[in-house]
Amino acid sequence: MQIGFIGLGSMGSAMALNLVNAGHDVRAWNRSKVAQDSVPGVTLVEFAADAFQADAVFTMLSDDAAIREVILDAGLLESAQPGLTHVVTSTISVAFVRELELLHDEAGLGYVSAPVLGRPNVAASGQLNILAAGKADAIAAIELLLAPLSKKVWKLGENPARANAAKLACNMMIAMAIEAMAEGVVLTESVGLDRADFFELILGTLFSGRAYESYSAQIRERSFEPGFKAKLALKDMRLATKASNDIGRMLPMLEAVREGLGKAVSAGHGEKDWSIMADMTVRGSNSLASSENNSEKN
Ligand code: NAP
Repeated sequence: MQIGFIGLGSMGSAMALNLVNAGHDVRAWNRSKVAQDSVPGVTLVEFAADAFQADAVFTMLSDDAAIREVILDAGLLESAQPGLTHVVTSTISVAFVRELELLHDEAGLGYVSAPVLGRPNVAASGQLNILAAGKADAIAAIELLLAPLSKKVWKLGENPARANAAKLACNMMIAMAIEAMAEGVVLTESVGLDRADFFELILGTLFSGRAYESYSAQIRERSFEPGFKAKLALKDMRLATKASNDIGRMLPMLEAVREGLGKAVSAGHGEKDWSIMADMTVRGSNSLASSENNSEKN
């Protein structure tokens, strides 16, 4: 099966390699030059349109704007190979997914939303959780291709927006867990409890989930190599806010973590792992800590 791939960033390069290693013929495009030896076996193509001359194409660009620019504005749907199925694995907005679904229908192409859970190291080991939604025939056309990328494919129905809403909800909840741990550290370190001991306590009792395990380690070690870049996490919190606004709801915890990530990015930490937000809270330098201090002064 001929596969196209658009976007060889941290996630995309790992996923494209796994498709090659599973025996597929992958032609991939990236905006900036990619060294061939970093993606052995992948055929690098000069134009994004070349990647759309395939049976299926994956897109792992950073956000709505990049997909709009590279794919929609450039007319790639109109010039795509007939019968192609497009699998968008990026984390994008619910509203944009609705637009993409409509445009693919009009162009006679298959469309599957397949955002992923898992960081680049998880992508590299082919152990992603993939949240897949789209018409049954579109999913059937690409299902085999998801196997070498994933530990599990969660099929969430025919409405592609479901997969994207679920992905945004997951990231929103991880951000809340990161902030929750940071605020726990603020209270416990203030009375001399070592953060390693505090994390051992919470992981061994009330909070044994994966998000707590993974991000407590980064907060404990103060290690903020991405991972998942804070600027992309801020993008996701904005998308979640937009989705909640569109249904007339304001989600207060979401507002708080979006503000905290915004401060982290404004402070120049956009390329660091999003758990940098916790460090800022612990140090009293993000909006949550400062606004609380301010309200106490007032
Ligand atoms: P990344 O390393 O920053 O890669 C972003 C990719 O998008 C690169 O290929 C970049 O090209 C391309 N790009 C950005 N703007 C573009 C534009 N205007 N035109 C053309 N290409 C453009 O990001 P990533 O970590 O792989 O994340 C990709 C997606 O996966 C995001 O939606 C993210 O939210 C999601 N995601 C990430 C993680 C994670 O832990 N990293 C986990 C799950 C989901 P250049 O190389 O030329 O810059």
